[in-house]
Amino acid sequence: MARNDLSEATLGCLIGGAGPAGLGFLFNAIKRGAVEQLARAGTIIVDAGSELGAGKLGDYQIIANSVSDVFLDCLRDPLLAPILAPLHASPTYRHLRLNAQEAPALPIVGQLFQQAAGLVLPWLERQYGIPTWRQTRITEVTCEGSGYVVWLEQAGAIRRVRTSSLVLNLGGKQTRSSFAQSAEALGLELPERAPIDSSDSLLRLQPEALRQRYRARLKDGGPICVVGGSHSAFSVLDNLATALHHDGLRELTLVHRSPIRLFYETAAEALAAGYDFDPLQDICPISKRVNRSGGLRYRAHEIGRQVLAGQCIGGTPVRVNTLHLDGSEAQRARAQALFDDASLLVQGLGYLPIVPELRDGDGRPLTLRTLRGGLDSDAAGSPLDQHGQRLEGLHLFGLGSGLAVDPRLGSEASFSGRIYGVWQFHNDASREALESVLDRLDKPRGAFRQAGDALVEHA
Ligand SMILES: Cc1cc2nc3c(=O)[nH]c(=O)nc-3n(C[C@H](O)[C@H](O)[C@H](O)COP(=O)(O)OP(=O)(O)OC[C@H]3O[C@@H](n4cnc5c(N)ncnc54)[C@H](O)[C@@H]3O)c2cc1C
Repeated sequence: MARNDLSEATLGCLIGGAGPAGLGFLFNAIKRGAVEQLARAGTIIVDAGSELGAGKLGDYQIIANSVSDVFLDCLRDPLLAPILAPLHASPTYRHLRLNAQEAPALPIVGQLFQQAAGLVLPWLERQYGIPTWRQTRITEVTCEGSGYVVWLEQAGAIRRVRTSSLVLNLGGKQTRSSFAQSAEALGLELPERAPIDSSDSLLRLQPEALRQRYRARLKDGGPICVVGGSHSAFSVLDNLATALHHDGLRELTLVHRSPIRLFYETAAEALAAGYDFDPLQDICPISKRVNRSGGLRYRAHEIGRQVLAGQCIGGTPVRVNTLHLDGSEAQRARAQALFDDASLLVQGLGYLPIVPELRDGDGRPLTLRTLRGGLDSDAAGSPLDQHGQRLEGLHLFGLGSGLAVDPRLGSEASFSGRIYGVWQFHNDASREALESVLDRLDKPRGAFRQAGDALVEHA
């Protein structure tokens, strides 16, 4: 077996972030039989956490938007089988297998991937000498020559590591300023003192914690508004209604840009449910599913259906008023009035990628270009910088970065967002990144290799 030769001048690949996206890349490398090549070139895995594999996914107190079998499918491969065999004795795995066609709670999915990572990461180190540096935070990345210098903070010390390829999936964030920008694009102004929270932090609260945090807001009497139209936004409505109806909550407001879209396996199923859809725009030409990429599924579908029907949601006495920002001045003005009066505004308008400080070789700051819903990247997740320069060798495809829909795989025409999902990370989203990393390992590294600095420097 190849060993990771740490005396090499430059790493072949640094995998930054071992959450669902980073883990998907690693699993893909195993399935593709590419680990030996990665190890020979020098590869390390770096994550700020100590329990790896689940990232934030297991923290969300909601039901998944796919059935258990979709998650189990990520672990099904002849090359993974011997490594993951001990997982079969795990109660988590057995529970998911027994309920394979039901949508599980995300904390259970998180447990599954944490346990899978607990087997795969030590195996990579044992068999191939690919180490995992836990509790190691990436703080800065410098593009030098044709590679990257990655700054790491580990046990209070700073290290620098040189690498030819950098697979960087550190998760996503929702900031007040990104909310303000999205609102501005809709002609809305966020009042300076608006009480804002992100769907990301709200969805990680268990019901009692959620109640403690928001109960007082009910006394203000102002509207509680959720802004967005995705799985997250409907999960927020559900969790708020469930936690707060005993305290008198009866009404929530949803402000959304796109129409509320529900997922159906077939057009016939959608018609039978009385769901109104556009046969040209909303059906995937390949799978024939209705709102395949952008439609609400499972528990969020149920909540969405109740909202569309004007019913109380999730078995509570809470109703949801909807305000569709359809481009009209009247709707914009109504939304602004809500923003001005709200007791709570919950941001559910998407994510930005978490990216450490980026600099060019001369120390000048670099930023990554964004397009609606994510980074302006190619199919391998390589982004453009602010000058329109492609950052070859850098790959981001996790939460907030996102890959656009691949027309070869199909989607509905009305969907213009990004695809995020564990199955995608383990399959299509990381495949091109992996091929690109392997391709680069085959090529001479030019200027960067000539730099000849030590692999690890203590600054
Ligand atoms: C509310 C919500 C619900 C979702 N539901 C589903 C679902 O049902 N099904 C599905 O398939 N997908 C779902 N997703 C999408 C996606 O699968 C998850 O968001 C997933 O957690 C994203 O994985 P990630 O690896 O990109 O980021 P994260 O899960 O955030 O993981 C990031 C990793 O990077 C590490 N890290 C962070 N900063 C640093 C640093 N500076 N240095 C080193 N390491 C660092 C973290 O410790 C972590 O391990 C959902 C997303 C959201 C927001």
